Amino acid sequence: MIGSYVNLSKTGELEQRRKTAFKFLEKCSVCPRNCSVNRLKNEKGFCQTGRRVKVSSFCPHHGEEPPISGHKGSGTIFFSYCNLACIFCQNYEISHQGEGDETDPRELADMMIKLQERGCHNINFVSPSHIIPQILEALVIAAEEGLTLPLVYNSNGYDSLEMLSLLEGVIDIYMPDFKYSSDKSAKSFSGCDDYWKVSTLAIKEMFRQVGPLKLDHDGVAERGLLVRHLVLPNDIAGSYEVLKYLSEKVSKEVYLSLMAQYHPCYKAYTDKKISRRITNDEYNRVLSWAKDFSFCDMYCQQLSSADIFLPDFDKKNPFGNH
Ligand code: SF4
Repeated sequence: MIGSYVNLSKTGELEQRRKTAFKFLEKCSVCPRNCSVNRLKNEKGFCQTGRRVKVSSFCPHHGEEPPISGHKGSGTIFFSYCNLACIFCQNYEISHQGEGDETDPRELADMMIKLQERGCHNINFVSPSHIIPQILEALVIAAEEGLTLPLVYNSNGYDSLEMLSLLEGVIDIYMPDFKYSSDKSAKSFSGCDDYWKVSTLAIKEMFRQVGPLKLDHDGVAERGLLVRHLVLPNDIAGSYEVLKYLSEKVSKEVYLSLMAQYHPCYKAYTDKKISRRITNDEYNRVLSWAKDFSFCDMYCQQLSSADIFLPDFDKKNPFGNH
């Protein structure tokens, strides 16, 4: 499967998209926070990221959903910092504390090429919402040098519609979180006032661009939307409304990943509503809602996933054994 951006690269359209995206950095509105700082002059807003991106690690990742990891791994690039501030983030060393190295476009392009050379099925951008212009900048170089793998946009769902429009025909697989139906929860636990409005519009736009997930003969994703929903304790996420929206306003054909891996990390212990793992009953209740809404494709987890999926970003491969 060849990434759809390859043609855009040949016609020069990819470079045009990069140019347009860079205009958003000058008075930053790359994400819905609209901080208005001049990132071209290295000013920093909520996401603490200036002109250059930081990368925490890049590696073949075998722990994503089966259509994304396949049998050769997903070529994952973990970007530092984030435009949300989830107090329970399992990647808080990189998303809050900014662990990682500043990377120029040439180096970022090289990472993509190396992941392709290692046989990965795709290039998986983790936490890309605040650095889309810089990703496009590196992609222009990588595509000219032979990158052809499909691209996965692996975000928290807090994405700007204008930026997403620049990604049409560039991104093959969207894999957003759909975290909350409650803005009160989003405010308390992720520092975000308008998560519901922004994420619902973003997910609809993603589905409009790429449609339902399509797999090749080996079950590996080629194109489409996969939505992740992390079940939280005490129904903090408002899961019923999340599933209802997806089913009724987007499509029952959305490939849904219902995640049971919640583990109270970082500052989660400061609030008793989220200071524990979820119970079997809590997860099973959300599963039964999803079945009632008749989603065509759904990926579920064992509750033991809370141990399996905790990454260690001190390692070169945060999800590996070495
Ligand atoms: S990308 Fe960063 S600086 Fe720009 S609006 Fe979003 S949080 Fe603010």
